Amino acid sequence: MKIAVFSTKSYDKEYLNQANASHELSFFETSLNINTVNLTQGFGAICVFVNDKIDAAIIDELAANGIQIIALRCAGFNNVDLVAAAAKNIKVVRVPSYSPQAVAEHTVALILTLNRKTHKVYNRVRESNFSLERLIGFNLYQKTVGVIGTGQIGKAFCNIMLGFRCKVIAYDVQESETLKKQGVMYMSFDEVLQQSDIISLHCPLMPKTHHIINSESFAKMKQGAMLINTSRGGLVKTIDAIEALKTGHLGYLGIDVYEQEEHLFFKDLSESVIQDDTIERLMSFHNVLITPHQGFFTKEALEQIATTTLNNLTSFEKGLPLQNQVLA
Ligand code: NAD
Repeated sequence: MKIAVFSTKSYDKEYLNQANASHELSFFETSLNINTVNLTQGFGAICVFVNDKIDAAIIDELAANGIQIIALRCAGFNNVDLVAAAAKNIKVVRVPSYSPQAVAEHTVALILTLNRKTHKVYNRVRESNFSLERLIGFNLYQKTVGVIGTGQIGKAFCNIMLGFRCKVIAYDVQESETLKKQGVMYMSFDEVLQQSDIISLHCPLMPKTHHIINSESFAKMKQGAMLINTSRGGLVKTIDAIEALKTGHLGYLGIDVYEQEEHLFFKDLSESVIQDDTIERLMSFHNVLITPHQGFFTKEALEQIATTTLNNLTSFEKGLPLQNQVLA
């Protein structure tokens, strides 16, 4: 198939080319948007990533250009108007599971870094400052870790935290019997907020979960709690997080995703003046750690993403059932 790949980075090209046997891939560095959608003329498929916003207007253009299938090279699909795609008979496929461990392990990296301040001490030691002042952390052992969403990534994360001998509590609309047997205790969303020392978000972003963490949720959390979000930016109302940080009620914030990330993440803006005052305010806190949506970024995950994306497109081309189709 002729596939237009958008938001291409060097690593996308490398891993997709390695995994490709039969498709004709054209790589575009630009994201897909209303100004670039014309590039899809002459292609049968597009391949996009998390911050390519595919709304109804773009879908209309894609349909007019003959695009039959949208291949997301990610798990989340909140950036695609599925109803509009279905109305134009454009199929949407994704990579539902490429490496839950990659994201779960990055979540733990955020927790350990915020807690033990390795990012700060790295710089200190390079300047021959070997002092321990202001580096004190806390033991994870026997702390209560609350997990919101215990799907593939949430499960992998629970298992790691059980290994640290934490008490793991969780909220999900679908409880996992396996996790229960392993020692995870399910409770209500509010109880998880109230009892946790560390709260980690692993549920998808959808209308029901938009801003599930807001000023009311922060008020329910323990004084000094740590919040980690490696799922989607829209789960947390950022301005409320800033207020909770300012009062000191929120003790630590670790985020790999951000509400307005499409304007920032995956780009080198080191020579630009950042126009987003909210992220600038977040970056000013000593107890906030931000990574630019790198949870998925391991060799194993990139191999799996490339292979599954191309297999999804091959199945479509051959008229085989689309196992990874996302339905409206
Ligand atoms: P999954 O579908 O396996 O699990 C999601 C879980 O959330 C399910 O158990 C589901 O029942 C639960 N859920 C649904 N609605 C809920 C609600 N209202 N409250 C609580 N739980 C609810 O998905 P996954 O593979 O574990 O991925 C989780 C999320 O992680 C994705 O939606 C995506 O946004 C994000 N993600 C981030 C990265 C990254 O690089 N940071 C990479 C991949 C995925």
